[in-house]
Amino acid sequence: MKRLLADSDLFHQMFDDSPAFFALLRGPEFIFEMANKAYLALIPNREPEGRPIKDVVPEAESQGYLDLLNQVYRTGEIFRGNAMPIKLHDPDGHERQLFLDFVYQPIKDDNGQVVAIFVQGSDVTERKLAEIRLIESEEKYRLLFQSIDQGYCVVRVRDEPGQALDYQYIEINDAFEQQSGVQFALGHWMRELRPQLEEFWFKTYRDVAVTGQPVRFEHESRDLQRWFSVYAFRISQPEDMLVAILFSDITQRVRDQIELKMSHAELEVKVLERTAELARSNLELIEAKRIAERASQAKSDILSNTSHELRTPLNSLILISQLLAENPERNLTPKQRKYVDVIYESGQDLLMLVNDLLDMAQIESGVSLIIQNKKIDWQHLQQNINNSFTETAARKKLEFSIGMAPNLPKHFISDERRLLQVLKNLLSNAFKFTKEGSVSLEIQPLAGRSSEAGDAVEFKVTDSGIGISKEKQKIIFEAFHQADTGNTRQYNGTGLGLAISRELVQMMGGTILVESEPGKGSVFRVILPCHLPAAERSPKQLRQLG
Ligand code: ADP
Repeated sequence: MKRLLADSDLFHQMFDDSPAFFALLRGPEFIFEMANKAYLALIPNREPEGRPIKDVVPEAESQGYLDLLNQVYRTGEIFRGNAMPIKLHDPDGHERQLFLDFVYQPIKDDNGQVVAIFVQGSDVTERKLAEIRLIESEEKYRLLFQSIDQGYCVVRVRDEPGQALDYQYIEINDAFEQQSGVQFALGHWMRELRPQLEEFWFKTYRDVAVTGQPVRFEHESRDLQRWFSVYAFRISQPEDMLVAILFSDITQRVRDQIELKMSHAELEVKVLERTAELARSNLELIEAKRIAERASQAKSDILSNTSHELRTPLNSLILISQLLAENPERNLTPKQRKYVDVIYESGQDLLMLVNDLLDMAQIESGVSLIIQNKKIDWQHLQQNINNSFTETAARKKLEFSIGMAPNLPKHFISDERRLLQVLKNLLSNAFKFTKEGSVSLEIQPLAGRSSEAGDAVEFKVTDSGIGISKEKQKIIFEAFHQADTGNTRQYNGTGLGLAISRELVQMMGGTILVESEPGKGSVFRVILPCHLPAAERSPKQLRQLG
């Protein structure tokens, strides 16, 4: 290093060791008079001392710096360059890109004539490259935000004493306008652009800018009548007060949700109304049922009372006609005897009918028919039935038989009177609806109905009569139903017998079944368990259970 201008060693050392680069170029050729270490480091191995710049740094000429030097030399005006780019070739031929901050300072003689140029500056390549990289990456993000469907913007928040809190759009993407519905926003302050905007937005973005806490929320912008989903975060340095905002218009989604909620609410109201209506009609039904039950009870009561009243005179009539028929004084003509017989038989029929009506009335009103259980005497039962039907069989010229299995349970408990009532009803039907052939009753133990063999007894009434169609079999057990209403005249009856029989059988814990084919005859089976049901129940309770 040559000492050209400096006198003291200290001065010389200061220049030489400075991190800034210095050189003195004497004009007009710009010969290197001096260059410090930092300068020499820029142009290694070039030996500049005493040589013109165009030889030492030919790159300066080709990149316009020689012109600049000439200009300073000619005009005497200082030149300042910031981050000036220059490409230098290393001795190995490798090209280096540098950015330099420098000053070309003219040095004048006593006459004011420029005689040399003092070059001083610093290498800012690192900083500049970092800036370029930053710009490039910012550019990348900008491109990214430009291409998304979401609205994107950067706002600068102003929160200064004496001024209204406000923010200004300093960057927006393409989707911004469509998503926000705000036009020409760039560069504008919010209070000026949208005077009606709620304070919420100002405060929210101010908080993000101040605290650096990102926020994510959904909110309505009343002035725009739109709903937004927003994500806002601080960018850059805190003092810049910059907030980036990503947002989308969710108005449609919110409206859909509101509609959905409303239709839910409407549905709920409808359900409530419907429930109330149902409850009302339920109450009406209950009331109607209560009225109907009261009416039915009244009817049953009348029927039951009337039946009782009828029985007394009827019994007298039957008794007296029986006495008359015996004709002890033998003073009745055959015709008169026949009349008496008719009176007796009609009285019997009428009594049966009254008994049936009374039973039915009791069944209908839910009053328990009294069941008196005791051990059944099979012989007695057979005798009773035989006595009742032998004469009828003979009169109708029908075969009649009663078959009793030898292994009938010895201790069979039932209500004999009610059992007889059922069997007699079935047998009298069998005789009534059979013109020729036979009627029979078979009583046998029924094996295999449960674990114990012989735990039930079957009473089977078979006839070879007119039979009952499948259709009619479904209704004959209902009160007042006859298989063929057209038959009423031909076969008298009330349609009560089977209904009463079924109730009685059920009360005895058993079942009654029918099998029949029109024209071929019918089979009625009554099956009674040997073990009685736990408690005697009223017909109504039984029906409910059934
Ligand atoms: P009814 O007083 O009419 O005999 P029931 O309740 O005893 O009343 O019988 C109902 C109807 O069932 C009868 O009207 C008849 O049509 C039919 N029915 C009952 N038993 C027989 C039978 N053994 N053969 C043909 N039809 C029968």
